[in-house]
Amino acid sequence: MRSFNFSAGPAMLPEAVMRKAQAEFLDWNDTTMSVMEMSHRSADYMALAHQMEADLREIMAIPDNYKVLFVHGGASLQFSAIPMNLTQPGDTVDYIDTGVWSSKAIKEARRFVNVNLVAGGESNPTKIPDASEWKFSDDAKYIHICSNETITGLEFQDAQLEAVFAQGKPVIADMSSNIMCRQIDVSKYAMIYAGAQKNIGPAGLAILIVRDDLIGHEREDCPTLMKWSTYAENESMFNTPNTWAWYLAGLVFQWIKELGGIQAIEAINQRKAQKLYDYIDASNFYHNRIDPSERSWMNVTFELPSEEMNAKFLEQSKSAGLLSLKGHRAFGGMRASIYNAMPEEGVDALIDFMQSFALQHA
Ligand code: PLP
Repeated sequence: MRSFNFSAGPAMLPEAVMRKAQAEFLDWNDTTMSVMEMSHRSADYMALAHQMEADLREIMAIPDNYKVLFVHGGASLQFSAIPMNLTQPGDTVDYIDTGVWSSKAIKEARRFVNVNLVAGGESNPTKIPDASEWKFSDDAKYIHICSNETITGLEFQDAQLEAVFAQGKPVIADMSSNIMCRQIDVSKYAMIYAGAQKNIGPAGLAILIVRDDLIGHEREDCPTLMKWSTYAENESMFNTPNTWAWYLAGLVFQWIKELGGIQAIEAINQRKAQKLYDYIDASNFYHNRIDPSERSWMNVTFELPSEEMNAKFLEQSKSAGLLSLKGHRAFGGMRASIYNAMPEEGVDALIDFMQSFALQHA
């Protein structure tokens, strides 16, 4: 039996996807070999890769003037690749700092360009700085945001995103932990990037969605494998890709299509998050620190009354088949990551467990 795994990433994958992968593990598509064992340039594998990209384009409604690139190095490599592809030395860029992941992106960008901090900068904020306090620079080449801070569970909301788009600059978003959790208008962004290991597939793959006009302006000293143009010109196969991760991502995209697309997932995600936050708010045993209007749909953090309780909760939840609920050490407490693959029954089981634990220990 599979447990409910609330890990922030690598995270739970849909059971149907894992079963399909298991069934075709040794013999994929009647090739009598595993998909892991075949050349990435074979006709069979190329067909898989093309289908995978087509399915992603369909479910996210990616316009034709955007390239989809499948890259190595995780989302973190893009922290440096973004300034290397979009700026020259001496340029200025705008970053909004809403937590650990935006801070890491800022730290890396500072190696290459002048970073103007639009707002934020305190450690682990529980609220996105008020838009009235944002200080954009006139000459920024782009604006960077992390649309969902995975560690705290702090997510940009529509009004804040609109305020960012209103600047009329290319907007770059790290969507590692909330890509495909709801419908978005890709055309409002210049570039979207995400590590795969949460809502896409296994670790070892990152997906970039880049508007055509942003490609090909990299610095002269940009390494070949960090240039977006290298991936764009070579169907992301300049060198050997992570063939297994691409395959599993493809199965996840098919699973989303079969469920009714991101529209259907969005409704489930909203329900899952709402019921968990409603329960936490109604309880006087658990507490969530994030501003209620900016809470993440994907990463729900909460704390118990003491460290001793936190430890007991972790031990007992694990025995109940509810895994990986420990919060990130930088923020403490618990974190339930409820990505697309987490079934609603998993959230129900967590709430039931939280109720009985609180009854026993309050
Ligand atoms: N950005 C966000 C929002 C994340 O949550 C993570 C990882 O958890 C990263 C970036 C880093 O991703 P990677 O490990 O793929 O480099």
